[in-house]
Amino acid sequence: MRKRIVIVGGGLSGLSAAHRIVELQKEKNLDLELILLEASQRAGGVIHTIEKEGCLIELGPDSFITTKPWALDLSKRLGLTSELIGTEEGKRRSFVLRNQRLVALPEGFHMLAPGSVMSFLKTPLFSWSGKVRMLMDLVIPKKSIKDESLASFVRRRLGNEAFDRAAQPMVGGVYTADPETLSLRATMPQFIHMEEKYGSVIRGIYSAQRKNAKEKRDSGARYSMFLSFKNGLRTLIDAIIENLPEGSLKLNQKVKRIERTGEDFQVITRNGVEKADGVIITTPTYIAQKLMEGIDPALAQDLSKIEYASSAILVSVYKREDIVDKMEGFGFVVPDSENSPLLACSYSSVKFAWRAPEGQIILRSFVGGALDPDILELSDTDITKKIEKELHSILGITVRPLFSILQRYPRAMPQYKIGHLDTVERIENRVKELPGLEIAGIAYRGVGIPDCVHSGEMAAESLMSTLYNTNSK
Ligand SMILES: Cc1cc2nc3c(=O)[nH]c(=O)nc-3n(C[C@H](O)[C@H](O)[C@H](O)COP(=O)(O)OP(=O)(O)OC[C@H]3O[C@@H](n4cnc5c(N)ncnc54)[C@H](O)[C@@H]3O)c2cc1C
Repeated sequence: MRKRIVIVGGGLSGLSAAHRIVELQKEKNLDLELILLEASQRAGGVIHTIEKEGCLIELGPDSFITTKPWALDLSKRLGLTSELIGTEEGKRRSFVLRNQRLVALPEGFHMLAPGSVMSFLKTPLFSWSGKVRMLMDLVIPKKSIKDESLASFVRRRLGNEAFDRAAQPMVGGVYTADPETLSLRATMPQFIHMEEKYGSVIRGIYSAQRKNAKEKRDSGARYSMFLSFKNGLRTLIDAIIENLPEGSLKLNQKVKRIERTGEDFQVITRNGVEKADGVIITTPTYIAQKLMEGIDPALAQDLSKIEYASSAILVSVYKREDIVDKMEGFGFVVPDSENSPLLACSYSSVKFAWRAPEGQIILRSFVGGALDPDILELSDTDITKKIEKELHSILGITVRPLFSILQRYPRAMPQYKIGHLDTVERIENRVKELPGLEIAGIAYRGVGIPDCVHSGEMAAESLMSTLYNTNSK
């Protein structure tokens, strides 16, 4: 019998779920109708690539990691292999702001700890006592803590300098989070495994590096750690949409409520009601919570526990000759202790070639996050002025940019606080009790692009096995 599936939310998670459903439908020759409801006038969610005055601009995410395979796999299945591009090889380094000056992160430094002895010993980023303290990681006995914050873990194993000057700004940039409450187990469990297995983060990093080098040699791996597409991340979004059944993606369809009638669902939008045998919700949890209130108040309650941080990105385009800094890297991160409005700045057209016309540079500056929510209370003009003033002093710029765009991301980044995995487990267990309903998205088991692809695809597979009895829930 023909089944009807409704996906709520047309960001990457919803689109990945839709694409996996179409793949399974074709593979198993199933009779179904797919509807994807997106509240805004554009699919892709926070992924948003535009072109302006000859520049290719990412207003949101700009690349994905390949150590988690799901985004790369999906790209290959969509026939996008020839569109993939890596970051510029000769310039793969980043800087940290220290006393208002940019200091290169030591080569091989891996989020929290060094991966190369010589560059670690030579770096001016850490004091000698800071370096000795970091090396104590090799002898400090391991501890087993159920759910520890990033700050507590790094201070305990590697000391205050490693935390203040590297871990806090690097992780802050990725998660826009407060590291004092960010759960290490929910975000970077690999460091916990390193402590468990090797008794040391540094030994764990060395061992992982050796393993990666061997795998690369053996497999002839040719992808860089971070990838995008020649025409930006919208390539992935556009390719998924192209593969969806005609008419299945419905824009400007804000879902207001979901009701359950017997085994079926009614998805209520501003414009009407969509009946469904199965529903996948991929909205932020503060929206999912409202949608679920009538069906399962306990689930709604757990969804409400996940908090979000807001941020903004200023894209500004300068003439290269107007920037004094040599720009020999992909950008810089800013420790909280620098009292700067910036979280980080990425040299977008250095990281990916051909993004700006010859002689121009695209900068992407990040502000806000859990540690500086107040900046987002300012007007666009005031945020822009603050960022420009800071960029001018750090990079030696004396003129206004050729143009700039401020993009806000209100409540876009879920905060994986201590206890996050317990909350997610409770949510998943409640969802298991509701056959025909699935959830997916950035809020649960990973915030990156590959995680969201995986989350959407897993939700699709689970729903298909429920609806077509290939597996029981
Ligand atoms: C500023 C920023 C930069 C990032 N940079 C990177 C990066 O460089 N690399 C990386 O790997 N990851 C990055 N991420 C994370 C990455 O963007 C996410 O993993 C992923 O894109 C999130 O997809 P999603 O579909 O779960 O959520 P979203 O993109 O938020 O999509 C949710 C969708 O649901 C829709 N919606 C909401 N309410 C309703 C409703 N009531 N009815 C219907 N639809 C609704 C929204 O309009 C939206 O389209 C970044 C995140 C942010 C916020």
